[in-house]
Amino acid sequence: MPEVFQNFIGGKWVPARSGLTFVNHNPATGEVLGTFPSSGPEDVDAAVQAAAKAYRSWRLVPAPKRAEIVYRAGEIIRQRKEDLARAMTREMGKVLAETRGDVQEGIDMAYLAAGEGRRMYGVTTPSEMPDKWAMSVRAPIGVAGVITPWNFPFAIPSWKLMPALVAGNTAVFKPAGDTPEMAWHFTKIFEEAGLPAGVLNLVFGSGSNVGNPMVEHPGISVISFTGSTEVGLSINERAGKLGKRVSLEMGGKNAILVMDDADLGLATDAIVWAAFGTTGQRCTAASRVLVHEQVHDELARRVAERAGALRLGDGLDPATEVGPLINRSQVETVERYVGIGVEQGGRVATGGSRATDGALSKGNFFRPTVFTGVERGARIAVEEIFGPVLAMLRVKSLEDAIEINNASAYGLSSSIFTADVNRAFRAMRDLDTGIVYVNHGTTGAETHLPFGGTRGTGNGHREAGHTMLDPFTEWKSIYVDFSGHLQRAQIDNN
Ligand code: NDP
Repeated sequence: MPEVFQNFIGGKWVPARSGLTFVNHNPATGEVLGTFPSSGPEDVDAAVQAAAKAYRSWRLVPAPKRAEIVYRAGEIIRQRKEDLARAMTREMGKVLAETRGDVQEGIDMAYLAAGEGRRMYGVTTPSEMPDKWAMSVRAPIGVAGVITPWNFPFAIPSWKLMPALVAGNTAVFKPAGDTPEMAWHFTKIFEEAGLPAGVLNLVFGSGSNVGNPMVEHPGISVISFTGSTEVGLSINERAGKLGKRVSLEMGGKNAILVMDDADLGLATDAIVWAAFGTTGQRCTAASRVLVHEQVHDELARRVAERAGALRLGDGLDPATEVGPLINRSQVETVERYVGIGVEQGGRVATGGSRATDGALSKGNFFRPTVFTGVERGARIAVEEIFGPVLAMLRVKSLEDAIEINNASAYGLSSSIFTADVNRAFRAMRDLDTGIVYVNHGTTGAETHLPFGGTRGTGNGHREAGHTMLDPFTEWKSIYVDFSGHLQRAQIDNN
């Protein structure tokens, strides 16, 4: 593996045309992991041209053959799973069990997307005319621009790029500045799997110098973005003006509802995992618990006790339960929100500060934090923090909890703990989120189900699952008239 990494454009590994670079760090130790190109619009343009050229032939490769390459990539990922997981922990901090899961999603998605190559079903339907055939088929869109965040640096590119390529698109991929190395591995694997030159192009660099030019480049027809709501909405506005298709997966403020008949032991396990796994930096992380007033104090006591005992450290150490935050700026954001939580009347039941003892001083560590006494309008109860901060709110009933959940600006995931089947079904029907769990935390999506959210979390698209091709294909309706004479539709023939 190189120490100086390069872009991948038109099948060649090349530096940024400007020669500029940036350095990648381990968030647990501060260690330097490598140097990457700090690219600009000229590199994006070269990548789009390569992708546009490759599209002419790639779209004509039979879908099952395109899919075989994705399947081969899945096999290579499977062989390298452990090395990839270790590289991911070094690069973005989450513990090994979680990075193994992230890589496993890449494997699962490869096999699932490869299967689509032999399905990609269209629809045939009778024509209203005699001697006429009617059908609709999926067609690729062209060059896809794929912009991804750092928290699932292998799974999220897999959800996007694998279906995009199986469907016959080519792509320009811009990963998050904090996780360039995982994007390099992803791309290298596809090169080794036999993807033709120019079909997948990788351009490293910042949101402003690479992401923006991708959004504005006329050669890119569809943008698939996962990241913050603020950046996603600004992309939507700019790309929308250019008539591009935009698929957005954005922020979350996910709630776990705990009713008075819930199994509190199970709920505690699930809350601690959903709130503090990946150091609270999952889009589906639970950051609010809406708990029935009759069990509030007991649940808060249990959750705070467990959260306070979680062991922080380098994710490569098997004893570590919670890794670092991604960067210094995220530590400052979390610290600021803790201050706001206290100012607005919340009580810190555990945590609330940076962790700097011993080796932790080298990394971006913050103690798992639980707030109680949080008012429903308080900022820590409504804004996405993206860190290990959990707000517990008292509710009077299921209806009360659903109302609070649905008042959120976001709608990604929600969950309910109850032993009452009627309450569970009401929650499944009424919780306005893209994902609902019953007696399980808010995290842990499976690749063969659609993934995405309502309201401020998304714009109606779903990734993975049986919907995986939707963001990357157009429907084309085809009529074949074999009558030999003019038959007119949309005319009143009666
Ligand atoms: P950001 O929105 O900061 O960045 C996401 C990506 O967009 C990065 O590659 C970033 O580049 C790029 N970017 C930044 N500015 C621009 C711009 N002006 N034009 C084009 N691209 C740009 O999000 P984070 O990486 O910090 O990820 C965390 C966020 O992602 C959270 O809000 C989280 O909820 C959300 N998320 C949502 C998921 C979902 O499925 N709903 C899943 C995972 C995360 P750079 O890194 O170089 O700044």
